[in-house]
Amino acid sequence: MVSGAHHGNLQKIRNGRRTFGITPHIPGGFITIETLEKITKVAKKYNGVIKITSGQRLLITNLEGDDLPKIWEELGMEPAVKKQNTVKNVEMCPAGYCKRSKFNTIGTGMKLSKKYQYMEVPCRTKIGVAGCRNACGGVYSKDVGVIADKTGFLVTAGGSAGHNPRMADIIIQDVDEKEAMKIVDKIFGIYKEEGMPGEKLGDYIDRIGLKEFKDKVL
Ligand code: SF4
Repeated sequence: MVSGAHHGNLQKIRNGRRTFGITPHIPGGFITIETLEKITKVAKKYNGVIKITSGQRLLITNLEGDDLPKIWEELGMEPAVKKQNTVKNVEMCPAGYCKRSKFNTIGTGMKLSKKYQYMEVPCRTKIGVAGCRNACGGVYSKDVGVIADKTGFLVTAGGSAGHNPRMADIIIQDVDEKEAMKIVDKIFGIYKEEGMPGEKLGDYIDRIGLKEFKDKVL
């Protein structure tokens, strides 16, 4: 990662040419027309390639390293990830725009995003939020999840996709939104205090045991 004001990831070295990618922070994947226009304008100007990522973001890649500071300035946006081992993303479903939603969890997701995005934790962490038990966006593969149901909210923990896939465990269900937020806060507090450097939340839960983890949280 190129640090400082011009965060970018080295993507490829081909025939000695280094190209970089950047991912601006787009909370929940909801983007205004104006911001979208800004991104396409910058991509066009700097010969970028836009990729819609699985994390509800837009990656702009194929960029020259020297252009990155100008690009960030023209975008006027924050990078989605500033440091490794932080809360990298809060992914959310369209909830209030979906006929199946039991609660408009976009607000829940935005509150979580405001509170936890960029927070330092033992290992990279994702949060998932969904408006019904369909859990669109793969909430059960996220480290922390909040899902609305007819009877209240569920909070999940320990999900992971990738190298060592793990399905999240349901920590509590049938609580109101406020209580769900409190549980999420407790999960982060415990994980920050007891997780080992580089240890995913799911691995921490497996190390101490689900029962003990639940006892600590509840
Ligand atoms: S999780 Fe439920 S509310 Fe959200 S998009 Fe999927 S079906 Fe709709």
